[in-house]
Amino acid sequence: MIRIGQAGIPLSCKGRTNKDGLIYTKEILDLNAMEVQFVRGLYVMEEEEAQFMKEYALENDVELYVHAPYYINLSDDDEVELSFEKIMNSARAAEMMGAKIVIIHPGYYGEKSEKETLKSITKNLKVLQKKFKKEKISVKIGLETMGKQKVFGSIDEIIEVSKHVSSVVPVLDIAHIHARGNGCLKTIEDFQEIFDKLSVLKLSHYLIHVTGVLYENGNEQYHLPIKKGDMPLTPLLDTIIDNDYNVSLISESPLLEHDAVYIRLQVEKAIMKRTGGEEADYRDLSAIK
Ligand SMILES: [Zn+2]
Repeated sequence: MIRIGQAGIPLSCKGRTNKDGLIYTKEILDLNAMEVQFVRGLYVMEEEEAQFMKEYALENDVELYVHAPYYINLSDDDEVELSFEKIMNSARAAEMMGAKIVIIHPGYYGEKSEKETLKSITKNLKVLQKKFKKEKISVKIGLETMGKQKVFGSIDEIIEVSKHVSSVVPVLDIAHIHARGNGCLKTIEDFQEIFDKLSVLKLSHYLIHVTGVLYENGNEQYHLPIKKGDMPLTPLLDTIIDNDYNVSLISESPLLEHDAVYIRLQVEKAIMKRTGGEEADYRDLSAIK
């Protein structure tokens, strides 16, 4: 199963609420995923809007995810409480709208060693997991791979934490992995290596962020349209299609939904290449043997 969507309200959508964005994603763009962005500070969603989104998403088979505020630090004791608060607010809204995953950035090494950082982030995620349980929040905690050397979140670190905290799943920001590895993702083998690393977690679904990215010395500078970046999309899609991975591909490109639609067209092209047909539906891989 392949789901495709964008992070936030589509740029070309006139209405600027998440509800407007969701309807537009389904009806105009013909996409089946959306990541709601709670990235600016503490955000609370009206219960009525959340309830509408839950019902609409269910009826129309659109999957929802929520991105918590960017600045979170689960490694520094002084910042943990405020970080918890931001995550809990996002998680409560996510639960209300029936979203599957709340995405967070794990934190910074600061003065700590990599090992110590891993330890404190794991410890704090266990505390967070308890808070989720206490409030009966069933949303998974999505821990994102990060694109800068000073930020905790290499693919190996994210996998290590996910092994130890049951409600944590990795969120593969593929551009961040590419930037951190100074342009390491080029071929099918490169992408396959990522999925092979993840196999230890026995995941049934992968949430993947896609964008072009400008980077320098293993550090992300900023996002680019997919076609302007040097990470090719085709080998990623080939890896997904040929393994029949269950994925949600979320565009985080500056072109947002335009690049989500571009991803959709590339998926359909890849399916047609395999079936020899002249039509394809990105939601249906069953035509491929
Ligand atoms: Zn993020």
